[in-house]
Amino acid sequence: MAQGQRNLATFMKILLVKRLESSFHAFQETLGRFIKSHELVLQAFDDGFVYTSRKHSNKVLEFLEEGDDDAAAEGPVKQRVVPIVQDTKNAALLRLSAGPLPEAAMATLQHALARGIGLVFQLEEGETLTEPVPSRESRRAILAYEATEGGAGVLGRLTTEPQALAGVARTALELMHCRNLDAAIAAADPALLQNDPEAQCVKGCYRCLLSYYNQPDHELIDRTDEDVRRTLLRLARSDVAPIASSRGAGEAGAWHEALSRWGLPLPDGEPLIVDGAVLPLAWRAHLAAAVYGPVGDNTRCALEALGFVVTTVPDEPGDTPPPELAEMLRGAS
Ligand SMILES: [Zn+2]
Repeated sequence: MAQGQRNLATFMKILLVKRLESSFHAFQETLGRFIKSHELVLQAFDDGFVYTSRKHSNKVLEFLEEGDDDAAAEGPVKQRVVPIVQDTKNAALLRLSAGPLPEAAMATLQHALARGIGLVFQLEEGETLTEPVPSRESRRAILAYEATEGGAGVLGRLTTEPQALAGVARTALELMHCRNLDAAIAAADPALLQNDPEAQCVKGCYRCLLSYYNQPDHELIDRTDEDVRRTLLRLARSDVAPIASSRGAGEAGAWHEALSRWGLPLPDGEPLIVDGAVLPLAWRAHLAAAVYGPVGDNTRCALEALGFVVTTVPDEPGDTPPPELAEMLRGAS
């Protein structure tokens, strides 16, 4: 939910509590009105129109209730809406191959990278957002996504420009009041980092990692966290390179042929890359993937975090579809 909506929700909550304090009857009435107005607006959406009016915003509900079209000339404007939204946004999933860091470190790393991305690509705050995945309670990876329409495509640049991620990490360390960066990055050694003596910042401040947007995480953020510093130092000396598939097209080709023979959906054109592993047989619409040979624990965890089920198949397809694969692909369709 956008921050504005969240603020509005909080505001409404306070309003309702105040109402309850004044009288239970008043509270009941207000609640009844809320429900009724929501139902009316939803009904209007179903009918394919909404009333909009700045001047007569207080009258919109009356019009909805009365359905008085003749009076519309005097009041709110009736406007056709098509309640379908379509939008494409870039997202990037950042996952540490050695496994997630402790909770506070994952939160700190998330906000360090978010601020680094914002500074390197000169974004407005909130243009690219980050979230822990699968949830705030279980921070296994960091999802970054472009929150505004027609974003600057910065997440695409992060994965295609070999030095972009390194620049983000270095900028984050600088922001975290770290000095002696060149030596520390070269050795990937957090012990070589020095504190800016002017910083006057213990674990975080509004000049480094704290912001209005990340208030719920303020207690977790610690710019001195050694795991975070080590990770950022390693990223700061990294290059981004696409992972080449270790499998030839041979097996995938045989599988394509067999799947269409069995009347099962064909895998996506693009292989799925998870936790550094390339999965040539992936059905994103079915949240299903198949690998040749055993699945590593890390890969399985990463796939499950993304909601995928994974099965093992032989290099060469047999005469009949592997039952587990068939069930995954048929069951989800
Ligand atoms: Zn600070």
